[in-house]
Amino acid sequence: MNISRRDLLKFAGLSAAAAAVTGCTAATGAAPSAQGGSSKILGKHQVVIIGGGWGGLTVAKELKKIDPKFDVVIIEKNDSFMSCPFSNCNLGGLKGVSLSTLTHDYSQAIEKHGYGMLTAVVTGIDREAKVVHTSKGGVGYDILVLAPGIEYNYKGQFPTWSDAKIAKARRVAPAALIPGGEHVALDRMVKNFEGGDIVITVPKGKYRCPPAPFERASMIANYLKQEGIDGKVIILNETAEIAKGAAFKESWKDINNGMVEHRDNCRIVDVDFDKKEITYEQTTYKDKEDVTGVKATHTIKYGLFNFIPHNMSNPVIAMAGVATTQDGFKKVKMATSKEKPVSFATATDPNVFAVGDVVGHAIPPSGQTAIWSGKECAKEIAHILHGKSYSVASALPYKSANVCYSMVNGNPEEAIMVNHEFMVAGPVIGSKGHVPKGDEAANKFRSTALGKATHDWYKGAMRDLFN
Ligand SMILES: Cc1cc2nc3c(=O)[nH]c(=O)nc-3n(C[C@H](O)[C@H](O)[C@H](O)COP(=O)(O)OP(=O)(O)OC[C@H]3O[C@@H](n4cnc5c(N)ncnc54)[C@H](O)[C@@H]3O)c2cc1C
Repeated sequence: MNISRRDLLKFAGLSAAAAAVTGCTAATGAAPSAQGGSSKILGKHQVVIIGGGWGGLTVAKELKKIDPKFDVVIIEKNDSFMSCPFSNCNLGGLKGVSLSTLTHDYSQAIEKHGYGMLTAVVTGIDREAKVVHTSKGGVGYDILVLAPGIEYNYKGQFPTWSDAKIAKARRVAPAALIPGGEHVALDRMVKNFEGGDIVITVPKGKYRCPPAPFERASMIANYLKQEGIDGKVIILNETAEIAKGAAFKESWKDINNGMVEHRDNCRIVDVDFDKKEITYEQTTYKDKEDVTGVKATHTIKYGLFNFIPHNMSNPVIAMAGVATTQDGFKKVKMATSKEKPVSFATATDPNVFAVGDVVGHAIPPSGQTAIWSGKECAKEIAHILHGKSYSVASALPYKSANVCYSMVNGNPEEAIMVNHEFMVAGPVIGSKGHVPKGDEAANKFRSTALGKATHDWYKGAMRDLFN
């Protein structure tokens, strides 16, 4: 892929201008790198952020807000932004919500906040040379922020599956947890659905937005009801955990009249995408003391499959060569010290930070968390660039650091919520969640007030990122 003339001029212009105000050197013609590299060096910047999603956009905006002289560049592979949050409301066919509600162009944010953006795919990171290699050339940095989000771990979950089978899974049973075309594909599949069973899987381990698959089940059931389509949503959950569990269960019972069926402890064994068949093993436990359970294997047919596999940190994290946890997700290990017990700097490299879903803090992987973390990460970086010190611990405990709504009904629009407080928990940031009753008088978790709050939250978040 070649860098376009317009991109190059914009980037080169920004590089030169930034160098003039910040004293950064614009390096050219560096030697080829072994780390997925390109020989062409496009420039060097004080802060380079990988990922123009919820975390990356926040760090960039906040840095420029703190000091407009900071030279900040985001590297993002997509040329427009698509929101995962609120995407289930689109699948639910809610009035006034469409794919365009989820899509935003980056130019407004770039103009407003004054950071730079290179549209390119990151292919390697050379921490020794402090260069990020991309499909359009290398970019030097003083400080690097990793905000690349997640990837699916089909290979880890199904080691015997061929690359062709994994590609087919991505195509015909899109997970739609990552911004981009998968949301368009799932939207098409739901809107063309004529009846039958829709299956959604919920993976074990850390995955993006724990309530999302359950909100999706509620919203797809709402769409089926609204359109008079004869169908049912079956959730195959690899564990027995349901985020905001009591609240979702209450709404499925009250509203969905058997249209949402949750099956717990179901491990996917195999999928035949041609026959549209899923084979899974369900373990039934007698009681809490029973650790072995009784296993039974089932094969079911589906009409539509939203196959959410195990999640892991985006491969950019491995490219950076920073230490990660040993679990399947591979969270980034975060720095800790007596002066700064918790931080968004990585444990491996004080010049490399991480925000968003990849962080090794014990906080929920959500867009709201990414915004909160992005603001704190920007404060840490700004203090370093100004030769001062800042400890994230000074902002903790922090009430309502993550407020997450899930729409559970379309007519009337009703939602449930969880509210997380963040605190210092040993060497990491910890969290404690509370699911309140949205309608105290009716003693129900869901309410129309929370339905309205869901719209308001999404509009506010988009304002936060783009205006
Ligand atoms: C269906 C659904 C509903 C959700 N609902 C909510 C909600 O109601 N509230 C809430 O708070 N959160 C919600 N979330 C969670 C939220 O979307 C994520 O937690 C959030 O996007 C994480 O931000 P991030 O910056 O880590 O990653 P992202 O927002 O995914 O950003 C990562 C960016 O990095 C880019 N990138 C990746 N690799 C490369 C590369 N090699 N080169 C260049 N660029 C790259 C990607 O294109 C992407 O733009 C929901 C998620 C889903 C899937």
